[in-house]
Amino acid sequence: MKPSEVNKKSGIFHEKLRTAKDPVVEECVNVPGARHDMRLYTYEQYGRRKTSLVCIWCGGVACGEPTQLDPCLEIYHHTTEHVSARGERWPVGGSRPEPVEA
Ligand SMILES: [Zn+2]
Ligand SMILES: [Zn+2]
Repeated sequence: MKPSEVNKKSGIFHEKLRTAKDPVVEECVNVPGARHDMRLYTYEQYGRRKTSLVCIWCGGVACGEPTQLDPCLEIYHHTTEHVSARGERWPVGGSRPEPVEA
């Protein structure tokens, strides 16, 4: 995938992304085990401002919301399990385990 295709897929940002033209922008997509580097990104959607967690490398949008405690940091997904930053896993459409004190 070229960066332009990645950005088209996410649908919410393009050249604004700092790494959009970076040759290693695909690192976390193509390197097994490489982690996404999620940053807050605010954009307009349906005329409203929205803030999501977006990977500065591949441009993927995280499944979880930045307002959640320990959100799922997988790129938006439908079939695989949710996985949080702390490594907690729970099924899509299923309930999340009770939060554990840090
Ligand atoms: Zn990424
Ligand atoms: Zn998820």
